Amino acid sequence: MKLPIYLDNHATTPMDPQVFEAMKPYFLTKFGNASSKNHSFGWEAKSAVDLARKQIAKLINAEPSEIIFTSGATESINLALKGIAETYFSKGKHIISSVIEHSAVLDTLSYLAKVGFEITFLPVDQNGIVSTKNLEESIQPDTILVSIMTANNEIGTIQNITEIGKICSEHNVLFHTDAAQAIGKIPFDVKENNVDLVSFTAHKFYGPKGIGALFIKMKPKPIKIIPQMLGGGHENGYRSGTVNVPGIVGFGKAVEISNQLLINENTRIEKLRNKLYQGIVSQLHGVKLNGSLTNRLANNLNICIDGIKSENFILELKDIAVSSGAACASASLKPSHVLLAVGCSIEQAKNSIRFGIGRFNAEEEIDYTIKRVVETVEKLRSISPTYMKNEMN
Ligand SMILES: *Cc1c(COP(=O)(O)O)cnc(C)c1O
Repeated sequence: MKLPIYLDNHATTPMDPQVFEAMKPYFLTKFGNASSKNHSFGWEAKSAVDLARKQIAKLINAEPSEIIFTSGATESINLALKGIAETYFSKGKHIISSVIEHSAVLDTLSYLAKVGFEITFLPVDQNGIVSTKNLEESIQPDTILVSIMTANNEIGTIQNITEIGKICSEHNVLFHTDAAQAIGKIPFDVKENNVDLVSFTAHKFYGPKGIGALFIKMKPKPIKIIPQMLGGGHENGYRSGTVNVPGIVGFGKAVEISNQLLINENTRIEKLRNKLYQGIVSQLHGVKLNGSLTNRLANNLNICIDGIKSENFILELKDIAVSSGAACASASLKPSHVLLAVGCSIEQAKNSIRFGIGRFNAEEEIDYTIKRVVETVEKLRSISPTYMKNEMN
């Protein structure tokens, strides 16, 4: 077993070696620009991009023409939210989202609020789930868009996307979902879910960083969306800029592998996740699960541990890569907005640790992690004056 152990697969995943192999020629010999129409270098690149677009479309039951390549989920989200807001502002200025969204959604919506849109952030229950009844009641005549994430990046909770999509289509409101943590990990069908726009990214499921996609529904009629990147009119005008051919090839390969492995991989990872959780709670008191174990990504465990501070815990646990919350938020010491939304106190939010298990984690790594977590918590508790006092009370 090699140290350190990587258990932060919600932040990013290691690239599958098969993905890397598939990409390699597109850096070196097959380096053409997919828009070059006059020679074989361009044709070769274009046919590789076409194949990947087909693979990706198939994964979510979409048409290849409905897949727009971007630099990642953040860009897809910006394109979807700003592009829809700019297209439909004369119809209405109300947008509905949730309080547990990723910062890419929250920050884009707070920008839109500054330029005159009205945003409703729906709360979640203790399990991290948005109430569909609450959603339906929040729809106003001027609501143009609902944006609710499929799976949460901190506590792994999976929303009732099919029901949300149904409500949106009944009320004639566009529905965007940030599916960055879901696609490649759980089955996702754009038709069954009645979604109009879906943002996702390759590096969350063993593909390369810097490549993502936005699904834009084209049938029965194309959804209009004002592009945010102008130039040569690539990607049907939705996103200009020379396409990232090696990245797209890797994205397609990552999709192909996920498609093959999905069910078995989830079963294996869920067993490891449950073992990790059981191993910790059976040996330590004062551990609380954040969110619920149902409607949750198989690879996610997020727990609150009494008597520790997550930053100290993470420093002590140098040989295991875990996180105290979203990668983008861990630079700040602010308590997680997601944990506060599911009812944690500020104290509890600051005691919480996120584990993200992935394709390349082995059972012995989980056994080692259980042992190290238990001894680290015991050590930190033994030197914590406040925890001692609580114990004596
Ligand atoms: C990682 C992530 C993003 C951002 O994706 P990038 O491709 O890194 O821009 C957005 N939303 C969620 C839920 C994520 O987990």
